[in-house]
Formats: sequence, structure tokens, C-alpha cells
Amino acid sequence: MNNANWVTCYVGLGSNLSNELGSPTEHLQQAIAAMREHEQIRKVDVSSFYASAPMGPQDQPDFVNAVASFETTLTPAELLAFCQQLEQQALRARLRRWGERSLDVDILLYGEAQIAEPQLTIPHAGLLERNFVLIPLRELAADIMISGQPIDSYAASNDWTGLKLL
Ligand code: ADP
Ligand code: MG
Repeated sequence: MNNANWVTCYVGLGSNLSNELGSPTEHLQQAIAAMREHEQIRKVDVSSFYASAPMGPQDQPDFVNAVASFETTLTPAELLAFCQQLEQQALRARLRRWGERSLDVDILLYGEAQIAEPQLTIPHAGLLERNFVLIPLRELAADIMISGQPIDSYAASNDWTGLKLL
């Protein structure tokens, strides 16, 4: 495996629903533990956890959000399948668009890849507007370039509206 091609990736994690498997913070911790155990994932690093006001319907609890970085030999499609498996392990049920969920795992960046398919868009479609993604991402990778520009040139990476460090 040492000669395999390890690609640096960033994934966004979010939860605002407790269930029999745990609280939002615990759902994130369980997903991170599964990343650390995956044979094709190494060098897992995790941002602080943040509380953020929900997008969309406001009559739902605040989210807990974090970003994880790692290197992987999974292809983008395989990584998406792994992210969806993590959501299923947290017993995710989709109640409504942008509504509450026990776990959301989105691929933010996959090396330099640019992918524009409905089932997989990389960089992630909402990335540049979402402070609850950019602020934890910037914590992990202060100098990262996104779509050709430094992360701190995006306004949302400096906007703490609705966001609190946990
Ligand atoms: P959202 O994350 O926007 O709240 P979902 O988690 O329900 O919504 O994801 C809906 C679909 O988004 C998934 O079925 C997946 O195929 C697609 N998708 C497109 N790009 C990505 C990405 N970068 N990471 C994760 N899912 C993605
Ligand atoms: Mg998602």
C-alpha cells in the first residue's frame, strides 16, 4: 500500500439529531473513529467542533459541525460510498430538505479534483458560501487554495454569524 497514490481530502461533518446511538457530538466522534480505522485512510486530522444555526427550516436544533482531513487511496466514488455508509451507520433518516439529520458527511475537496456530476460535485457545491464549513476548514488548512483562490479571500471564511466554537 505504501506505493499507492494517497490523495489529500477534506470532508465536512454535521449533525443536529440525537438518537439511540448518541448525541450530535457523538455521531461526529463515531464517524471520525471509523475514518481512523479504515485501511485506505491515514493521517486523519479533525478541526474543533462548532455549533451553527441551521440553514433552511429554523425550527430545528443547531448543528454540530466539523471538518476532517486525511489521505486516502479510495477513489472519489468509493469515498462517497464510504461517507454514505457512515451516515447509514448513524441511522440517518431524511425528514425534509435541509432538515434535521443524525449525520451528514460531505466530500468538500479531493486533491485537485474537479467533478461536476449530480451525484458527486467536487469542490462541494455549497462550500464557498458556508461559514460552518470554511471556518473549520481554514482551521485545518490556513493556506489552502480553493478553486484557485486562497481560502481567506472568501468572505464566509471570516464570518462568524451563527457560529460558535464548542
Ligand atoms: P445535503 O448534504 O445537501 O444536505 P444529502 O446529504 O442528502 O444533502 O446529499 C444529497 C446528494 O448529494 C447525495 O446523494 C450525493 O450523491 C450528492 N452529492 C453531490 N456532491 C456531493 C459531495 N461532494 N459530497 C457528498 N454528497 C454529494
Ligand atoms: Mg450531504
